[in-house]
Amino acid sequence: MIKFLDLQKINLKYQQEIKEALMQTFRSGWYLLGEKTKSFEENLADYIGTDHAIGVANGLDALRLIFRAYIELGIMNPGDEVLVPANTYIASVLAISDNGMIPVFVEPDINTYNIDISKIEQKISPKTKAILIVHLQGRIVFSEKLKEIATKYKLKIIEDNAQAIGAEWKGIKSGNLGDASGFSFYPGKNLGALGDAGAVTTSDKKLSETIRALGNYGSNQKYINIYKGFNSRMDELQAAVLDIKLKYIDHENEMRRKIANRFISGITHPQIILPENPAAQKEHVWHLFVIRTEKRDTLQNHLAEKGIQTIIHYPIPPHKQAAYKEYAHFSLPVTEKLHNECLSLPISSILEEEEIQQIINSVNMF
Ligand SMILES: *Cc1c(COP(=O)(O)O)cnc(C)c1O
Repeated sequence: MIKFLDLQKINLKYQQEIKEALMQTFRSGWYLLGEKTKSFEENLADYIGTDHAIGVANGLDALRLIFRAYIELGIMNPGDEVLVPANTYIASVLAISDNGMIPVFVEPDINTYNIDISKIEQKISPKTKAILIVHLQGRIVFSEKLKEIATKYKLKIIEDNAQAIGAEWKGIKSGNLGDASGFSFYPGKNLGALGDAGAVTTSDKKLSETIRALGNYGSNQKYINIYKGFNSRMDELQAAVLDIKLKYIDHENEMRRKIANRFISGITHPQIILPENPAAQKEHVWHLFVIRTEKRDTLQNHLAEKGIQTIIHYPIPPHKQAAYKEYAHFSLPVTEKLHNECLSLPISSILEEEEIQQIINSVNMF
């Protein structure tokens, strides 16, 4: 069987290095806010190109902390609106509503699956304070037009970069395109930890200091609390693993890109819509390879019979979740269409040549 994602196989590639780093940390007797986190934060900031990186407990916290910090700094307020793609993982939306802010859904572009930048301006109100862009599936969404809109209406651009670490837009890495960015190192992400971890990158010094304090009980100095913060720290063991895997992320992403290109040239089924390959290949790191068909469920069963495990990202959009019943009446037809038709094929650096061919053949036989 071809697993959707074989984390064991991916991590085994780095076993020797990881083992040494984990043992070093174990023996050091220092498990939080130590040298490993500091080193990973420095290396991540270097890699992304920002002045600061702050390790936090997970990706959702990274995003929640960004909004909370803007509130503490008086730049945003509960009740303010944040534009967010309707087609995203629910965590993007939770980060907004958790801070008492209002998510305003914007429909995706049917070709890129990312927020439709041409539909942003009509959703802006006097209460709008930010645009949360999500580089969904690993594909960057950004443009000069987006920057112009943000400048014109004085909006912060915040990136949900959980799925696109390593992607580049005109030589600038995702995570360095807006004012602040949240990362997830959930095990299945392109850069995955051995548990939960996340980070914020920004070049805004005040924001970075506020986020660091907020994630540490609102304290920058032991037992002196300036904010009503919470506890959201990256631990030393995760930082040790991530610091090693960060060195190989470009290679991992390049392998994904090669497989995506094989799928795009190999899958020729007339009823299956392939994801668009951006002209600038570096704009995509293929966290997911998502195909579409009106017969999605039949295709999924067909592939399962051929021994290929697939996943639906995601079966229910945020506005149709019970958690957000207040938005259930919204009409977001493009988002709903994508959720009904999408199917993610296995894609990761450890797929063997025969497996890639088997996936292509099985899809074409549908
Ligand atoms: C994974 C993910 C998150 C949340 O990250 P966690 O580390 O699981 O909290 C947020 N947004 C998107 C788009 C994601 O894919």
